[in-house]
Amino acid sequence: MKSVLGLFLAFALVAGGADAASAEPWYADPSHPEEEGSTAPLAGRIVVIDPGHQLGNSRFSGRISRLVPAGGFRKPCNTTGTATNGGFPEATFNWKVARQLQRRLENRGAHVVLTRDSNSRDEWGPCVNRRGRAGNRVGADLKISIHGDGSYAGGPGFHVIAPPNRRPWTHDIHRPSLRFAKLTRARLRGVGLPVAHYTAGGDGLDIRSDLGTLNLSDVPTVMVELGNMRSRADARRMTSRDGRAVYARALAAAAYRYLK
Ligand code: ZN
Repeated sequence: MKSVLGLFLAFALVAGGADAASAEPWYADPSHPEEEGSTAPLAGRIVVIDPGHQLGNSRFSGRISRLVPAGGFRKPCNTTGTATNGGFPEATFNWKVARQLQRRLENRGAHVVLTRDSNSRDEWGPCVNRRGRAGNRVGADLKISIHGDGSYAGGPGFHVIAPPNRRPWTHDIHRPSLRFAKLTRARLRGVGLPVAHYTAGGDGLDIRSDLGTLNLSDVPTVMVELGNMRSRADARRMTSRDGRAVYARALAAAAYRYLK
């Protein structure tokens, strides 16, 4: 038992050293539970991760174009999502980042619920109304919707979308959601990612009332557009496992900071 503990401590010291060398704050990497003196600092916390779209959406256009409630209006069930110029689908990017984020949060003891359980050409949806309500049923502490953008005209960069103060939909969650949005922006900036300048404000933060995924949530929530898949610089990062790990690490750090 002692030797196992010794090994763990030795590993922890090595890991801590690596952290210091990269000049990142300790909370940037939630895979280092020793920092909090507990292996499960997020125990009891529930996080819903929503990987945007589904790989098969384009093959089920009839089903994904039917209208569903989206928060005071109706909207198509879902869309196909975008892709890099090289054809790497947004649905796959979202899925892979979501799984990395899931692992990081579960390593810290959180209970993670995904809004879809596959990334498959044979599957479609779920619709935005189900994604919007996904955190409500399980009493989630937080819901994070992961996307990549596809702006032809825009340059590289991420932006974080939060819901507005709008009755009777998101007036009750807009404050904590904005807090989490700002933490997310800070952590994404903190790992060196550029802010998108092509969105409203150009400061990496956008408030939108047209998204069912946010409008129907009763728990604090944001949507992240982690990069512009049409930008060559972003596409390079978004199509590599190491690049996606940068996004997942920043999101995990933001969630950890928020939940603690
Ligand atoms: Zn999307």
